[in-house]
Amino acid sequence: MKEVKIIEVAPRDGLQNLQAFVPTDKKIALIKKLAHAGAPEIQIGSFVAPQAISQFRDVREVARSVHRLRGVVPSALVPNRRGAEAALACGISRLIFFFSVSSKHNYANVKQSPPDSLKELRLICRSLPADAAESLRVDLATAFGCPFSGNVTTAAVLRAVEKVATLGVRKITLCDTVGFGNPRTVEEKFSECFRLFPEIQFGAHFHNTRGLAPANALRAYDIGVRSFDSSAGGLGGCPYAPGSSGNIATEDMVFMFESMGIKTGMDLKKLLKVCDWLQKILPQAKLSGALFAAGLPDRIR
Ligand code: ZN
Repeated sequence: MKEVKIIEVAPRDGLQNLQAFVPTDKKIALIKKLAHAGAPEIQIGSFVAPQAISQFRDVREVARSVHRLRGVVPSALVPNRRGAEAALACGISRLIFFFSVSSKHNYANVKQSPPDSLKELRLICRSLPADAAESLRVDLATAFGCPFSGNVTTAAVLRAVEKVATLGVRKITLCDTVGFGNPRTVEEKFSECFRLFPEIQFGAHFHNTRGLAPANALRAYDIGVRSFDSSAGGLGGCPYAPGSSGNIATEDMVFMFESMGIKTGMDLKKLLKVCDWLQKILPQAKLSGALFAAGLPDRIR
C-alpha cells in the first residue's frame, strides 16, 4: 500500500514564531485535537532555554500533559544534553536534535558553530537510554539554502549527513528552513543522500515561503522520502530566519497525497476544524493553507 507518515509540527514550529504567548491549556488542546485528527507523531515543543524562545517556557507542563496520549507519539526538539534530559524526565522519549548546515544560521539559531553542535550531539548520543538513542532524529536546518549565506551545496549537506550517521543516528531530516528549495535541488540532495546512505531513513521538512513546498514534497516522495513534517494551517517559521514563513500546511499535504491515492491516516474534515479553531484562538496569526481558504471540493466532501 502506498502511504506516507505526516509529522505534525504546529505546536512547535508553528508556535515558535508567534510573539504572543499561547496559554498552556491552548497548547495542550491543540495537541489533543491534532491527535484526534489522526496525526501519528506531533512535535509538542522545544526544550530550549526560556530566554531563547519564551513561547516554550511551559514545555515541561505541556509534555507532562500529553506524553501518554493514545495513538500518537509526542516528540520534542532538544538543542543540547540538558534539553534531552529534561524531555526524558517529562516522559518524551522521541527526541529531535537540530543544527544548521550553514555556520551563520547555526550561530544565529543556537550561538555555536556546526562542529560544536556535533560535539553536543555526540554527548547526547552517549547519554541516551537505548530506546531514545534508537529513535533519535537529527534535523539539518538550511539544507536547501541559508538566509544569511545563500546557497548550500549538496556536498555540504552530504558532509553533515556523514558526520551525523557516524554517530549511529539513523533518522535524518533535511529542512528547507526558509523556502529556498525547488524540485531540482530536492531531487539532487535526496537522491545523493539515498545513494550514499542507504541505512538512513530520510525525512523532509519544507517551508512554503515561496510557494514551492507542495512541489518539493511531491518530488521528495517520488524519489523515496516517506516522512514529511507539516503544520496545521501552515502556521510557522523560524525566529532567526528573516523572511521565513509558514511550513507546508498539513491539510494541503494530506489533500495532495490522499487525492493521489497515498494514505496519510489523517482526517481532512477534522484537520480543517482544527484550523478553524486555531484561527479563533490565534486571530493575529495568518493561516496560509490553501485548502483552509478554499474548502474541500464537493466530490470528496
Ligand atoms: Zn521549520
